[in-house]
Amino acid sequence: MFDQKSSPQHEKVIVLGSGPAGLSAALYAARAELNPLVIGGIEPGGQASLTDTIENYPGFPDGVGGAELGELFQKQAEKFGARIAYEMATNVDLKVHPFSVTTDSGQYKADSLIIATGASPIHLNVPGEKEFTGKGVSYCATCDGWFYKGKSVAVVGGGDSAIEEALFLTRFASSVTIIHRRDTLRAGAILQKRAKEHPSISFLWNSVVEEVQGDTKVSGLRVKNVITGEINTLPIDGVFIFIGHNPNTGLFSGQLDMDEKGVIRVNTMLETSIPGVFAAGEAADSHFRQVITSAGMGAAAAIQATHFLENHS
Ligand code: NAP
Repeated sequence: MFDQKSSPQHEKVIVLGSGPAGLSAALYAARAELNPLVIGGIEPGGQASLTDTIENYPGFPDGVGGAELGELFQKQAEKFGARIAYEMATNVDLKVHPFSVTTDSGQYKADSLIIATGASPIHLNVPGEKEFTGKGVSYCATCDGWFYKGKSVAVVGGGDSAIEEALFLTRFASSVTIIHRRDTLRAGAILQKRAKEHPSISFLWNSVVEEVQGDTKVSGLRVKNVITGEINTLPIDGVFIFIGHNPNTGLFSGQLDMDEKGVIRVNTMLETSIPGVFAAGEAADSHFRQVITSAGMGAAAAIQATHFLENHS
């Protein structure tokens, strides 16, 4: 996308991120004839594209594959002139306008910036987790579930992600044990009911993983009951960890107002603390975190970026 020898490529709008928020922002900015550039990362699509089936995005009464929905978002944005650069942003300077964005391939200037960098899975931070990542420890059932045909797996967490992914894993695994630190799930009622009624799913309540064990790959988990203090080893072939997410906002640290978790503070107009910089999706929302809410925020951010450019041209 960028010729390293020339001066920075100047864009009216740069969108950082290519999940539902980023691509919806790109669609709206493209339809406002702003010819947006999406710095989409090396693996575009965001977390939603790693979800097997999305059942709550309106317009798809039979559900839609996460990857398929991401491709449709991209196709629609590109149809109206959005360009996707498969580059990683490595540095952003918001102190001077036009803003500077450095990627692994070069440098850009932007009159307006829409941050839609999403969030990444939180790790348990227990011994063995890092060592066995990719060797039995996973954060993506859609990516890795297939490897566990006929095997025993554990899922850690009690939220929507954990339960949804546990249900998905029953397609492959012979047994799925959900390990949750309390005795009630945080997940929505429909998912809870499905999981509790599923013959391949069992629960280890009030339990936390203390260690991921194995030799060359995962063979078990050391699990502690937080009520009784009892410690047991659960033999499993894989563990899928879904205990929440952290926003991908480190690039903007010290430049934009954020809450204590690093979520970028925006007002109802999706404006950040710097005029011309807007944020949408999980980089700026730790509450709703749905495909539809992220997409809606992306669209709104692009509408506001359009107004900003009209007023500052
Ligand atoms: P979440 O709702 O924050 O749930 C995280 C789960 O992990 C909670 O059950 C939490 O336990 C547990 N947990 C957190 N830290 C832990 C630790 N250190 N050790 C053990 N367990 C830990 O995260 P999420 O499930 O990823 O969902 C994020 C958002 O996306 C939510 O708003 C959710 O509704 C949404 N989402 C929606 C759908 C859907 O609508 N189909 C699908 C996926 C996600 P506690 O319950 O004790 O806090």
